[in-house]
Formats: sequence, structure tokens, C-alpha cells
Amino acid sequence: MNTPDGRDPETPRYTNFRFGQDPQPAPEPATVLAVPHPEPLMPRGIVITCAACEANRDWLLIQVGPLVFVRCRCAHEWQERDLGAGEVDTARTEGPEREWETFEEMYRGLGYDGLFRMTYLG
Ligand SMILES: [Zn+2]
Repeated sequence: MNTPDGRDPETPRYTNFRFGQDPQPAPEPATVLAVPHPEPLMPRGIVITCAACEANRDWLLIQVGPLVFVRCRCAHEWQERDLGAGEVDTARTEGPEREWETFEEMYRGLGYDGLFRMTYLG
């Protein structure tokens, strides 16, 4: 069983090697979880809207470690401090999960790269 970046999990990662220094294991990259959220979000009891296009639903919730970001179809994205890992977990649905090589690929693949600006798909 390999890690997502194809390594043997027993072998530490070495980066930032400089001559004369012992290489140090690099920290593991934070796992990123992206979950579409078609319904409106009300983390403070009021429906949040996108500051760029005024959409009020059909979000992509992006969890990076303990931080949660909300991304709009117009590609506007912000950190939502009132949302936590619990909300992202609740929004997860049964079904196959996909892994993406890069954020850009994921945004394009899920339709959050700005192409569907002013459109609700969910
Ligand atoms: Zn927007």
C-alpha cells in the first residue's frame, strides 16, 4: 500500500537537501478533501452568499487540514471560519471518491473553475 504520491509509507520523504546538512524528513502534505454542497450554507444562521457573484448555493467545500474553504462556481474562494471538518464530513455522500493530481484539475473536473459562473448545477 503506497501513499497518494506513490511512496512506500515506511520510507520518509527527504527534501530541502543542502550540501553539508543532513536531510530531514519533510512533513506529510495535508490531506485535502473537496465535497460539493448543492444546498445553501448557513454557518451563522444566515445563508452565505458569494461576494463576487452573489450566488447563495452550489458550493464546493474544501477542507485542508483543520481549515475549511468555500468555493463558488465563479471560482471565488474564501476561508469560512464558521465551518469545520464536521460540516464537510456531513456533506460527503456515499459513492466512489476521486483523486486529483492538482487543484486546477479538480476545479475543472468538478466544474468550479469559473466556467459555470452564474449557474447552479446542483
Ligand atoms: Zn461566486
